[in-house]
Amino acid sequence: MKSLIYEHHPLTDMTTFGVPAHARFLVALKQTDDIPYILGDVRFAHMPIMILGGGSNILFTKDFEGCIIKNEISYLDILSETDDHVIVSVGAGYDWHDFVMYATERGWGGVENLALIPGTVGAAPVQNIGAYGIEVAETIVSIDVYNRVTGNYEELLASDCAFGYRTSIFKTTARDTYIITGVVFRLSKNAQPRTTYAALVQYLDEQNISHPSLIDIRDAVIAIRRSKLPDPRVLGNAGSFFKNPYITQDAYHALLAVYPDMPSFEADADHVKVPAAFLIDRAGWKGRRIGAVGVHDKQALVIVHYGGGTGQDIVDLAHAIQADVFEKYGIHIEPEVNVW
Ligand code: FAD
Ligand code: NAP
Repeated sequence: MKSLIYEHHPLTDMTTFGVPAHARFLVALKQTDDIPYILGDVRFAHMPIMILGGGSNILFTKDFEGCIIKNEISYLDILSETDDHVIVSVGAGYDWHDFVMYATERGWGGVENLALIPGTVGAAPVQNIGAYGIEVAETIVSIDVYNRVTGNYEELLASDCAFGYRTSIFKTTARDTYIITGVVFRLSKNAQPRTTYAALVQYLDEQNISHPSLIDIRDAVIAIRRSKLPDPRVLGNAGSFFKNPYITQDAYHALLAVYPDMPSFEADADHVKVPAAFLIDRAGWKGRRIGAVGVHDKQALVIVHYGGGTGQDIVDLAHAIQADVFEKYGIHIEPEVNVW
């Protein structure tokens, strides 16, 4: 077995929030074949097990009295290639942004709008990561998993995964069933740039780029993100703490009467997506600090940890924001971050 097992391991540096917590056991998973041996280890037999990637979408509110399996399986194999596309298989522990850089440098399109999202390839399908009008599900062919219930290695097709807005079976019905070991992507060699988001259009305009390449799009996304989002290495955060709410047309029109400048995006025939950042900002939370935690001054969806705080401080702030947004607009905003 190549994987390494640690006892009483600190988790502070293993999540981007950087709050203090310990794991009873931590396993650095180096290869797929080790999984049955790890899960069969008597020390972990009656303990909760959780899978950790880069820790950029997780908040620990207490010590984890179980075994954390940190996915470090890393490979990148081209399975097949035509003039039109490439099929590439990537280990779950491979860094997501490194994969985006690798793909875009070779002219493989589909993930360029997802540049600079922290974390691992294996976590990308869990919440179907999305940004600037693209969701990772659009590029996924299949997912290699270890099924903890049956003890088998399996291949799930993208159509098996119930991908939706920041969700999939890995977050819902099969939350504790699968360990994702790798993801197979289909990337295009003739990708058309996707520039539906105003910030992207504006940035490309400012740079006088009228026919952006994949690399232009990727670099624009990187530049915009660097200008708006706190770098977790400097200021603890997990990106957007809340999801954007999808509200009914009736609820939307009632709100619009009060907030005529409220941005909105049609989600489906019955629902409208309203930016949670607008609701939180208008409720007066943007830039507000409470002790060691606060709401980022440039992006109201991002809760930040200034240092010296706890996971519970962050949860308390999130609850206060949720309650206030509900009181002011009658809308329940759900967390996107996985709280333990
Ligand atoms: P972790 O936080 O380690 O885990 C997330 C969840 O996935 C946990 O429930 C974990 O148990 C599960 N998991 C992880 N790996 C596996 C596996 N191999 N098998 C089974 N389950 C697994 N997200 C977006 O969608 N769009 C964005 O634009 C975006 N921007 C961000 C910007 C910043 C600054 C930050 C800090 C976060 C941002 N995020 C964004 C959130 C986060 O980066 C993504 O959700 C990312 O995919 C999490 O990857 P991770 O490896 O860090 O996962
Ligand atoms: P933004 O461009 O200021 O837009 C604000 C919100 O409006 C976003 O949440 C976005 O929804 C929505 N939106 C904007 N243009 C849209 C369009 N043309 N069609 C549909 N919806 C539109 O957002 P931002 O905060 O700077 O983030 C930019 C992108 O990065 C967004 O896609 C966002 O999701 C992503 N991001 C995600 C995280 C995270 O942790 N999940 C963190 C930072 C940034 P969507 O969020 O649905 O795209």
